[in-house]
Amino acid sequence: MSHTLPILETSSPVAPLAVGGFERLRDSHNRLITDLRLSITDRCNYRCVYCRTGNDGAQFSELPMADYARLLRIFVSLGIEKVRLTGGEPLLRDGLLDLVREISEMRSDFVSKIDIAVTTNGHKLAGLAQPLKDAGLSRITVSMDAVDSDTFARITRVPGSFERVQAGIRAAQDAGLGPVKVNCVLLRGFNDSQIEAFAEFSRSENVIVRFIEFMPLEEDRTWTPETVVPLSEIVERLNKVRPLVALPANNPSETARRYTFDDGVGEIGIIAPVSQPFCGQCSRIRLTSDGKIRTCLFSQSDHDLVGWMHRGETDEELRQRIRRIIEKKEARHHIGEPSFLKPSRSMVHIGG
Ligand code: SAM
Repeated sequence: MSHTLPILETSSPVAPLAVGGFERLRDSHNRLITDLRLSITDRCNYRCVYCRTGNDGAQFSELPMADYARLLRIFVSLGIEKVRLTGGEPLLRDGLLDLVREISEMRSDFVSKIDIAVTTNGHKLAGLAQPLKDAGLSRITVSMDAVDSDTFARITRVPGSFERVQAGIRAAQDAGLGPVKVNCVLLRGFNDSQIEAFAEFSRSENVIVRFIEFMPLEEDRTWTPETVVPLSEIVERLNKVRPLVALPANNPSETARRYTFDDGVGEIGIIAPVSQPFCGQCSRIRLTSDGKIRTCLFSQSDHDLVGWMHRGETDEELRQRIRRIIEKKEARHHIGEPSFLKPSRSMVHIGG
């Protein structure tokens, strides 16, 4: 495992410092923070085996949309230029379209337009793709962990889910949200038999398939190093479908290694946080659905930003808090090392 990747800055085309306003967010490892993942609910209608336990007794917590909007405005004033709405399942949340509309109107000294993305399980996407596009959504990622309906339903534990997600992907393409990214978390012995079929799916459906290495963030505590299907194995198997050709990164903080095939048809991304960590280029922070900042997926603690807001702090006071918190962002995660401690919150409660 390599942890020695160079620290790069984002390739943002805008000025590194505000004209008359605030300095951009930067951590003590000299990484610019430009990307915020906001979880707007920790409810989910799927119970994916690599994420949730399948029990429905959990306590959920979410804030009024107006609270997220105020915090987002503050983050944008500090140089956040990409916002990804996630969860839980963000399409379950009333007020989603209004929030997207509001973000699309946010401006800062750093950017004239915020890039807005949503990560969804796709179950409700068929009816929402066009309204999301009309509200100002830039891009969409759909999670889909198998290309056959039986395996898919075994993973989501929801019958009929595959057909709904297919309809959602098609609706997103029709609405002009393409190219749609399709995320597949690979679990050995569960869906690793699907790698070749996903290559065909990318080529025939004109979607970008992204394989993600399974991370120890599940509620079920099933993760072991052996359950991870590493990048090297995925590349080897795809190369047997057709020779892969590497594509350049879209930007220096991109998490996926990008490939096409030798005929230029299809696109595959591989996100390998376990076997090839990319912490050195990390430009991301997260805000959980209960309003807490997490500086890393694997942080051992989070910071109750909305608590300070509810206690009456001004925007400027909150900005100063955010700066101090970001400064201490972790250098890297420690998956696979003896010192690794699994975070107390799982992915569904952090916001993927
Ligand atoms: N419900 C939405 C969805 O299904 O895309 C958004 C939330 S989900 C937690 C966000 C992403 O995290 C999904 O692409 C999911 O596959 C990924 N994810 C969840 N648990 C994971 C794990 N243990 N390791 C790697 N990726 C995981």
